[in-house]
Amino acid sequence: MLTREAVQSDLPHLVTAPPGPKARAVIARDHAVLSPSLTRAYPLVVARGEGAIIEDADGNRFLDFNAGIAVAATGHCHPQVVRAIQEQAGHLIHMAGTDFYYESMPALAERLAASAPGGVPRRVFFGNSGAEAVEGAMKLARYHTGRDKFIAFLGAFHGRTMGSLSLTASKTVQRRKFSPLIPGVTHVPYPDVYRSGQSPEEATEACLAHIERLFETILPPEEVAAIFVEPVQGEGGYLVAPPGFLTALQALARKHGILIVADEVQCGMGRTGRMWASSHFEGFAPDILTSAKGIASGMPLSAIIARADVMQWTPGAHGSTFGGNPVAIAAALATLDLLESGLIANAEAIGRHILARLAEWPLRFPNAGDVRGLGLMIGIEFVRDQTSRERAPEIRDQVERLAFERGVLVLGAGKNTIRLCPPLIVTRRQADFAIDTLEECLKLAQRG
Ligand code: PLP
Repeated sequence: MLTREAVQSDLPHLVTAPPGPKARAVIARDHAVLSPSLTRAYPLVVARGEGAIIEDADGNRFLDFNAGIAVAATGHCHPQVVRAIQEQAGHLIHMAGTDFYYESMPALAERLAASAPGGVPRRVFFGNSGAEAVEGAMKLARYHTGRDKFIAFLGAFHGRTMGSLSLTASKTVQRRKFSPLIPGVTHVPYPDVYRSGQSPEEATEACLAHIERLFETILPPEEVAAIFVEPVQGEGGYLVAPPGFLTALQALARKHGILIVADEVQCGMGRTGRMWASSHFEGFAPDILTSAKGIASGMPLSAIIARADVMQWTPGAHGSTFGGNPVAIAAALATLDLLESGLIANAEAIGRHILARLAEWPLRFPNAGDVRGLGLMIGIEFVRDQTSRERAPEIRDQVERLAFERGVLVLGAGKNTIRLCPPLIVTRRQADFAIDTLEECLKLAQRG
């Protein structure tokens, strides 16, 4: 039994080697009945969560450095979010925002619209998932421009529904056997400063030159509705766009009447130390922004936040039964309150601290190739050695597994990167514990 003191501690505490007997029983039932398409990196069976701590079915407590994949922005079960959900559930759970009005919907839309970069009037559409927001943005871009084609980036992840999957270019397993997808999507390389060995300017230039070449050869620019881009590529390996890239991309798009959609499903909502990752990039103001994941601290909600002159479509052109569900909206309003009253600043401060500590890793560890990130969206890329930069997915997988066995939850992104995306309430003490643990795991993995 855990003592009261141990339960309240903010650091991991393992009472049995995970997965313990209760966890193993759940896993056996799960494997018998759940879709085998689900991907579990390690056998964590979650019983409850509080702040940055997850307790498993056997009473083990873990420090959560993936936050339900960048979702639990305010931490697990933040009392203000829980209270907002409970109060809302007590008087209205659902009434279909597509068909009826309720006050909290414009209240949240006003706040999201005002926060978006660019200072232009915006309109908002609420859905339930990141993929749904991306699908809606694809429809809106076609509707507004009257064009049918899209550009997206290699390594991008935009979702798994047919439309969003057409943009996704993360792993072939996600697309294999699902063709035909939506025609007219062209993928171009995302500027990867570390892998290309180029300077940020050279990487930006190479990517833009690639798109211009397409415009001159196989892709008439006047047929392209939108370019979808993640300001920090998430599933692709936590790659931060080089400083001038997004603004230059926007200039090229504007020249041809093409919309820019910034997919901030993973990198938005304060995670990077600003409300929107887009606003880290001077002069960048996407025409359409998609948000989900952290927006409602775990309740299913997504938003398309578009320039008001772009989001002009006729009643019935788009809708969603559950989109903007009152309970999810209440959670989002509470989440925004918390983000604005300190959590975004905390993400910036703790993120800076983690990055400063990790900066020396490539100098100390031959397998730590690159460390990069913004705020609490940090990637560590593992390689076989610093010279060849050959990817080392097995080192990454080992570090991930060893960390789990020591009570720290991290997940991979891309082929050989570990992502750190803890809840925004994470403390410096917890951050130091996680980095110390990862360091221990890397040393063990390097020994092989
Ligand atoms: N867009 C980005 C950038 C994402 O990271 C994800 C999910 O990881 C999605 C879209 C899809 O979101 P969802 O899984 O909620 O459909």
